Amino acid sequence: MKSYHKELWFEVKTRREFINITPQVEECLAESGIQNGLLLCNAMHITASVFINDDESGLHHDYEVWLEKLAPHEPVGAYRHNGYEDNADAHLKRQVMGREVVVAVTDGKLHFGTWEQIFYGEFDGRRKKRVLVKIIGE
Ligand code: ZN
Repeated sequence: MKSYHKELWFEVKTRREFINITPQVEECLAESGIQNGLLLCNAMHITASVFINDDESGLHHDYEVWLEKLAPHEPVGAYRHNGYEDNADAHLKRQVMGREVVVAVTDGKLHFGTWEQIFYGEFDGRRKKRVLVKIIGE
C-alpha cells in the first residue's frame, strides 16, 4: 500500500471566506501516483472547516447568512470563550461546517458526485492556516 501526505497553506485576508481547493487536492492526488484508495482532507485549525458541496455563489452567500444567524460574530461579549479572543463564533461555525472530508479515489480520480467540490471554510482569517491531505491506496 502507498501512502502520501501534504500540507496546503492558506492565508485569507478577511475574517470569513470559502475557497474551492479541489484543484490543489487533485494536484496532490496526481503527485501521489495512487490510483485506487481513500483521500482524507482536514482543516488543522479549530476555527476552519473542510467540506464538500456545490461551487455556487448564491449557496455560499446563504451559508454566510445562515451561519451568522446561528452564531453571530457580534456582540463578541455574548460568548464566554471571548476573553482574550474574539473568535467564539468561528469555533461554532467550524463545528457546523465540519472538520474533514473523505473521498474515494478511483482510477486516479476523485470519485465525486455530479456537483461535488472540496472547500476550505475560513471563519477566523487574516493569518496563515493549514489543511492536511492524506492519501492511502495502491
Ligand atoms: Zn478561540
